[in-house]
Amino acid sequence: MPFAYYARLSPARQAVYRRSDEIGALELPASVSAAVLITAIGAGLERGDRAAVQKGVQALVDALVDGFAVPPVDVRVLAVRPTDMDGELHGLYEPDEELPTARISVWMRTAQKKQVVAFRSFVRTVVHEFLHHLDYEHFKLPETFHTEGFYRRESSLANALFQAGDAVVAANEEAAARAPAADRRQR
Ligand SMILES: [Zn+2]
Repeated sequence: MPFAYYARLSPARQAVYRRSDEIGALELPASVSAAVLITAIGAGLERGDRAAVQKGVQALVDALVDGFAVPPVDVRVLAVRPTDMDGELHGLYEPDEELPTARISVWMRTAQKKQVVAFRSFVRTVVHEFLHHLDYEHFKLPETFHTEGFYRRESSLANALFQAGDAVVAANEEAAARAPAADRRQR
């Protein structure tokens, strides 16, 4: 079942919508060392360090760009989410029609309380915006729609990144648990 707005699209745009909807889940390209990249973003968010988060997200997007063999994307990590009538803006994708290089903007603090955005929803937003890029540059769609297929791609890619990140956390916890007792007493 397509989303309600499908009915209002022209037949040509409906055809693009259906192509988007038919593309299923995505796998993380084997070349992407997700664990390191995801951990760096998580650490930056924890410290509320915008420059570190920006560096981490750019590195993640660069790795995805290489993995999917698409043109580069500039990343901007900004502070407080802008708001409008629809609520808070989480992220923005601008194709290279208006800019020398396509650009992803993501905001790392909520509009209301100016708190750092939760790690998972932040990474999911980055993946979401990157998938708009893939729609144009990898799947060669003339337009990028939010379809169920689009959200399947978002979930599959975000989950692959989270799994890689979780593996690092689990390994660190295991290492900490194995640390000699004497070492822990000294702290
Ligand atoms: Zn979107």
